[in-house]
Amino acid sequence: MASIAVLRERVDGAVIMPDDPDYDDARRVYNFMIDKYPAAVVRCANVQDVQGTVEYARTNGRELAVRGGGHSVPGFGTADDAIVADLSMMNDVRIDHASRTAHVSGGATWGMFNDAGYVHGLGTTGGIISTTGVGGLTLGGGIGYLARSHGLSCDNLISAQVVLADGRVVTTSETSLPDLFWALRGGGGNFGIVTDFEFRLHPVRDIYGGLLLFEPEDAQDILRYFRDFIADAPREYGGFPAWQLAPPLPFVPEDRVGDPFLVVVSCWNGDHEEGARVIDRFRQIAKPAAEMLGPMPYPTLNSSFDALVPRGLQHYWKAVFVEDLTDDAIAAHLTYGPRVPVVNSTMHIYPINGACHDVPADATAFGHREANYACVIAGMWPDPADNEANTAWVRDYFAALAPHSGSGGYTNFASADDQGRVRDNIGSGYDRLVQIKQQYDPDNVFHLNQNITPA
Ligand code: FAD
Repeated sequence: MASIAVLRERVDGAVIMPDDPDYDDARRVYNFMIDKYPAAVVRCANVQDVQGTVEYARTNGRELAVRGGGHSVPGFGTADDAIVADLSMMNDVRIDHASRTAHVSGGATWGMFNDAGYVHGLGTTGGIISTTGVGGLTLGGGIGYLARSHGLSCDNLISAQVVLADGRVVTTSETSLPDLFWALRGGGGNFGIVTDFEFRLHPVRDIYGGLLLFEPEDAQDILRYFRDFIADAPREYGGFPAWQLAPPLPFVPEDRVGDPFLVVVSCWNGDHEEGARVIDRFRQIAKPAAEMLGPMPYPTLNSSFDALVPRGLQHYWKAVFVEDLTDDAIAAHLTYGPRVPVVNSTMHIYPINGACHDVPADATAFGHREANYACVIAGMWPDPADNEANTAWVRDYFAALAPHSGSGGYTNFASADDQGRVRDNIGSGYDRLVQIKQQYDPDNVFHLNQNITPA
């Protein structure tokens, strides 16, 4: 086995090893429940560094972990004794205003992408927390405020530059290596390391939106209204119901801080007066206990929850896809939602109808176009001493929702103990993905992920 030190000669970026002062920070990912000790973290500076890291890991029989934004709940971006290809230094975003496209490097975050696009009044569907990586999110599908108007993040992918398991660099699109391009759009990090994503952009600058906080006793009416409203809501509307303990913010009455609420989070990308009128209909169902609504930059809404979820929390999540938000499903939400244990934890019901349904079911590897909602129970808390109580809340909530849900859950919201659900989570494209995996990564070099094992 060649010494890891040879990597230092090969790459332009930094190779961080256990005796380096910044090792302890570099070895960790966003979820601090994951406490792994890789052999080296390679902060890749360019495509050649990524190639060198993949080749070193493969030829020396080392496990390879790939890290974009580092947000994977199972902590796929680190592993004991592994070589980590950390892409965080590769974070360029180039917007082409005229063609309404963007080139985004593999380690950029959604905050970087949204900020760069804002200047041009352009953007695409992305995550609702600014520190999440463009890489992992897009490859698993990509759900966000613009999904109803412009589809999933992966639906807006035009091409990708990929370092394959054998070290080759290829560019894939609908016309170039189309099988690979199909697989990248929902199949996760199984097929290579994407060093550049080319996205289609859409007009978005200042949206109208924010939060309405409703009392738990009004939650049934609000959820039923949301269900009816969202079925054919204007596509300018993207938003979701969530359970949340009220944080100490200026618009929350002091004596209500820490109380549970059903929050309707809204984003209207269109005429602001019309958006205000549409969102106002929720007020006619029940009187909000608190609210914060108004015009704001699109990147502001996409970073407004960041402070609730800093790096370093413990994470345990479960997810289900849902076709119909039935009264029985709502009853389960009413039982478990108000029991949300800490201010960081939440449950979101993301609508994925509208433009997500315009894309044919077999056009990408995202295999759950039948679903109208992707529901996530996101347990996030600061103190490891509370692990049992918090994971119990997630598990109990999930068990209550499962009978009213589809067979899978969104792969990007899955936890480490969901490896047995990969087929269900990936959905209808699974068997084709196995064949493509066999073609591009027969030795399963890229296996630290929601893994599709080669045929
Ligand atoms: P990482 O941990 O860096 O990557 C996860 C895996 O993705 C890697 O192990 C690798 O297999 C693969 N990967 C990452 N980058 C690359 C690349 N460039 N090339 C090849 N493979 C790569 N999802 C949504 O859809 N919408 C949301 O709004 C949303 N919000 C979230 C908020 C928080 C706080 C968190 C923790 C997660 C959220 N997610 C959301 C889920 C998110 O999509 C996944 O956690 C995703 O894996 C994060 O990508 P990352 O690059 O940050 O993670």
